[in-house]
Order: sequence, then C-alpha cells, then structure tokens
Amino acid sequence: MEGLAYYIETFGCQMNEQDSLRAGERLKGAGCREVVSPAEADILIVNTCSIRRKAEEKAYSLLGRFRALKRRRPELTIVVAGCVAQQEGERLLDRIPHVDVVCGPHHVSEIGRLVKRSREKRQRFAMVSQMTNSVEDLECPGIPARNGLKAYVTIMEGCNNFCSYCVVPFVRGRERSRPCRSLLEEARHLLERGVKEVTLLGQNVNAYRAPDRMGFGFPDLLAALSGLEGLRRLRFTTSHPKDLSAELIECFGSLPPLCEHIHLPLQSGSDSVLEAMNRGYTRSVYLEKISALRDRVPNVAVTSDMIVGFAGEGLEDFEDTLAAIRHVRFDSIYSFVFSRRPGTRAARLEETVPEGEKLRRLHVLQAVQREISLEKNKALEGETFEVLVEGSSRNGRQWMGRTRTNKIVNFSGPEGLTGRFLPVTVREGCRNSLRGDFAAEHANPEDRGRCLSA
Ligand code: SF4
Repeated sequence: MEGLAYYIETFGCQMNEQDSLRAGERLKGAGCREVVSPAEADILIVNTCSIRRKAEEKAYSLLGRFRALKRRRPELTIVVAGCVAQQEGERLLDRIPHVDVVCGPHHVSEIGRLVKRSREKRQRFAMVSQMTNSVEDLECPGIPARNGLKAYVTIMEGCNNFCSYCVVPFVRGRERSRPCRSLLEEARHLLERGVKEVTLLGQNVNAYRAPDRMGFGFPDLLAALSGLEGLRRLRFTTSHPKDLSAELIECFGSLPPLCEHIHLPLQSGSDSVLEAMNRGYTRSVYLEKISALRDRVPNVAVTSDMIVGFAGEGLEDFEDTLAAIRHVRFDSIYSFVFSRRPGTRAARLEETVPEGEKLRRLHVLQAVQREISLEKNKALEGETFEVLVEGSSRNGRQWMGRTRTNKIVNFSGPEGLTGRFLPVTVREGCRNSLRGDFAAEHANPEDRGRCLSA
C-alpha cells in the first residue's frame, strides 16, 4: 500500500464526511497519500448516501464515469462505501462490474485492510455485516477538519425513531453511543492539536446515552466538554425535536462554548403529515420547544429540514407547513421533495402528489424562506459579532468566518487572520451570508494593531 494515491468523493451528511476523514486517516496510516483528482489515484472511494434518491443517483453517475478510468488502468481499486453500500451489498458488485470493494459504514475503519486484500488477492467482495451494538468502529483518535480549526466528533450512530421515509435505521442500525470517557479523550486530543470548534455528530445526536456512566445523557456530555480548556465553540447536529429536553434547553446560555444555533428538523407543519411520517411530535409541541429555547436565548439561530410532497400531503397540509415556517422564522432551511426510499414504510404508501406539483411546492417554500432569511440577516446590520476566521472567501478576495450562530461573514483584512476570533460589524445582510467590517473598537490590542496597520 506504501505510496499508493487515494481519492475520496463524499455524498451526504457530516457523518459521511467524518467517515471519509476516518477512512483517509487509515489509508495514510498504511502509507497512502491523498490526491485531489480521480485520474491520479490508485484507489477511488465513493462514500455514498441513500437518504434521498438524488444523492444516490449522483453517486451512481460518478461511478459510471469511473468506468473509463478502470478500463485504462485495470489495477485501479474502486470502493463503494456508505449507506448505498450497506443497502445494496453484493448486488452492487453485479450491477457495477468495475467496482472492487463494497464497504458498509461499520467497516470504514477497516478500509486499508479491505483495499489491500482486494489488490493482493485480486478479489471483488462486499463487507456489509449486519447491525452491531459495538461502538468500536466509531472510535477515532481525533481528526481535525482540513483547516485544522474545526473538528467533528461522532458521539453516536444509528436511530431508533423509524420515521416512515427514512433509511437510516436500516443502513446505520439502532442507536449506539460511544463511552463518554473516550469522547472526552478525543476532544482533549483535538484541542491539543489546536482545534477551536468541535461539532458533535450523530443521526439523533441528542439521544446520546453514555454506556459507561449510568444516567449520563447529552446535556451531561455538553457540560463535561464545555469544561475542557481551549474549547471555544461547541456545536451539535442533528437533533430530534422529541429529544430537545428542558435540561438541554438550559444548556444554551449557561455553557459558554455552546453556540447559539440549533438545527432542528421540522419536516412538515401539518400534524397529519407528521403522523404519517412517524415523527413523534405535533406542530404545537415543536413550536413550544422553539419558544422555550428563544425565551432562554433570544438570539438563537434555528435552522431546519423540510420535506414537501410527502405521500398524502394535500394543499392544506402544505399551507400548514408554510404557516409554520412564517411562524418560526427559521434562519435557513434545507428543503427537499419527498422521494420514496426502498425498504421504508413510506415506500409502500401511494404517491399522491405528482412530481411537477412537488417541485412547485418546493419553489414556493424556498421563496418564502428566502424572504425570511434576507429579512433576518438585514436585521443584523450594524451589529457586531465574534467571528472565527476560517480562511479566504469564495471569491478569494476577502476573509470568510462564521458567527456563533453559524452565519457566514465575509470581510476585508490583512494577511494571516485564519484561526483568529475577531469582532466584525455587519454592513450588509444578504440572503445566505453577511458582509462586514473588522470592528477595531471591539478588538483586543493585538488584533487591532494587526488589522489597522495593514
Ligand atoms: S430521526 Fe427519523 S429522519 Fe432522523 S435519522 Fe432517525 S429515522 Fe431518520
């Protein structure tokens, strides 16, 4: 394996991003190096997502494009990892003859060994064991994200909720939480390496229950992590509304590193659709929780996921969703049209909303949300926020950072600001980001000198 080049393409959520990082670390440990172009690689890994049809189609289309590379270089090893791998198993080997290894999410940490076996023995195989209760495969030494400032820590995996549209319980299994001792160790290690912001990950992150300490739940974990020296920002995703307890709400505003942002999927504003989705809450329960959260931290940013065109969603249901969006005034929303996923309960429901109508509803919803996002960002003009500078902006001409509420801020400044916490005053609120100026009057003397002398 020494000297081999690998390329990873990742689809889906941050859990998959983190799995890809873990796979990369294993390959580096085996002497491989990462490349940024598939054409330069000896090992191609496609880490797939099956939560929506579109993500799955994109992964298949990429794999289709890799066929030509394999034809030119038969020694190339092509690996399909992630949720599609888990779902399809050996069928993928029949369906895509140029794929060598199919690797389910529970085997990501073995990727080096699997690639080696495939190359040495010239074998094609699938490694997609059945669900496990063990959490060993989630253990991680602590891998900072690319710029070294932020890191994801997977604290649990799987889900027991069985929302009727979702494949997660089938491909990632039931909830399994990592011991709090190893999580604290991982976080300490990351902080020693200079990480400033940690995001806790789990499909149902706030259902965390430490297996090594009786009664130690998610709020306890947040409190323990908040006490670690050097941790400036703590985030988590994705939360389920039913597990947003009063105790968890109390953590906001009382644990200094815990950022004022929550991603809390609502999915629909209609009670009958929520019931058909098996979400386990009603619209009013969701709204009460948001209201309790805002009572606690008025400036908390709330983002959400929404599905339109679910089987049985009538126009009135859709109007309820729009009403809920207008009521909550989310900071932003990830919105999707409903797509049936094989093996789920919703796959057996009759599709009642034509594709064209689903798209129409999606566009209406997005237009409503765009207006709200813009209004909310405009309302921030003139305010000053602490921004963690992550690197250069998309156009490369400015700096890009994030507020504690997870809003992107672009602003001008001299060289060498990456990794600094700077005060920035919002000059203009745009739909998806903020434009600002370094606020010298709020800066510490070192940053004031650095920014003003440039
Ligand atoms: S809570 Fe529902 S949508 Fe989220 S992972 Fe679990 S089953 Fe899927």
